[in-house]
Amino acid sequence: MNQTITVDEQLSEEISDASLQRSLARSRQIEEDISTHPGRYRILTGDRPTGRLHIGHYFGSLANRVRFQNLGVHTMLVVADYQVIYDRDGVGQLQENVLSGLADYLACGIDPEQSTIFTHSSVTALNQLLLPFLSLVTVPELQRNPTVKDELSNNPHRPMSGLMLTFPVHQAADILFCKANLVPVGKDQLPHIEVARVIARRFDERYGRGQAGDPIFPQPDALMSPAPAILGLDGTKMSKSRGNTIEIGMTADETAKLIKRAKTDSERQITFDPVNRPEVSNLVQLAALATGGEPQQIADELGDAGGGGLKKLVTEALNEHFAPIRARRAELAADPDHLRSVLREGNAKATAIAEQTLAEVRQAMQMAY
Ligand code: ATP
Ligand code: MG
Repeated sequence: MNQTITVDEQLSEEISDASLQRSLARSRQIEEDISTHPGRYRILTGDRPTGRLHIGHYFGSLANRVRFQNLGVHTMLVVADYQVIYDRDGVGQLQENVLSGLADYLACGIDPEQSTIFTHSSVTALNQLLLPFLSLVTVPELQRNPTVKDELSNNPHRPMSGLMLTFPVHQAADILFCKANLVPVGKDQLPHIEVARVIARRFDERYGRGQAGDPIFPQPDALMSPAPAILGLDGTKMSKSRGNTIEIGMTADETAKLIKRAKTDSERQITFDPVNRPEVSNLVQLAALATGGEPQQIADELGDAGGGGLKKLVTEALNEHFAPIRARRAELAADPDHLRSVLREGNAKATAIAEQTLAEVRQAMQMAY
């Protein structure tokens, strides 16, 4: 059985417009189905513990994870600790970042009884899937992956690590080990889901099936996030690594001070116009997200209140929204033993799932001795 990879089957660099439209349509279909059939879905999501979680994470993904969990969808939440080192020389404040992120998750409403929270490095059977999976992609395919290419062009003087090059395959292992069929992503991450789909298909074609004759791995769907990207205080995308964030765990005073510094413009009339006035519109958007209101209406109500009036409103809205979350977070952060026990339980659950999948893989590959 000597399979070669045909051209049209190869992983491509760009997601075509047609394929983007298909993913958007599929996402809408799933959104409609998910509340009536939550049991059909398993979501895989997670974060790299590279710093403190911020309100961009909250409004961009965390709040949505809690929503799906509360609809009854089983969610697997990976703390992607091994992935911290794909573009860094050391692990940094790893322990602190892991525990702080976990406190954020729980404070924001992730319930460890309903969602499985686990650390990547602890689930050995998951990581073993990398060997067969790596055999299913080619080096040129990996080199064409947009994240890998971005890394190359952003850091032309830093030789790329093997871990970075193979990063899309690790992500496929994270998704497939637990047979997740839904991965919430932004548009830029569609190519990663494609890697997982292709690996699932190629595994089936080359290595075989489970005992019941079904493919071992489902082909996951992307669930496109409706949330806008939140900008940081400097007007660029809020990112841990850019030092422009408002952290979920900050105090009300810290939040107020940071918002005072946020970039706006000199026009007194407040409008919601993300294309021409991105900074002002971002603040209006944050006020809308924090209060559950509509950005346009908030801008109308502010009228000629100017940057000062807008900042006052955003500060109050954020501090009110995050007050109960921050109070819970402080209690959780004060009890690291409890946080560690949550992780141990999540790791045990994820390990049981991974071992089951690895057993099926070994069986299919005639490696069950
Ligand atoms: P880094 O600087 O290390 O890249 P980051 O702050 O950009 O960190 P990521 O770990 O890259 O955070 O982001 C994880 C996920 O959180 C993203 O895929 C996205 O869903 C969400 N997210 C992050 N930043 C934002 C933002 N500014 N607005 C909306 N969503 C965001
Ligand atoms: Mg990022």
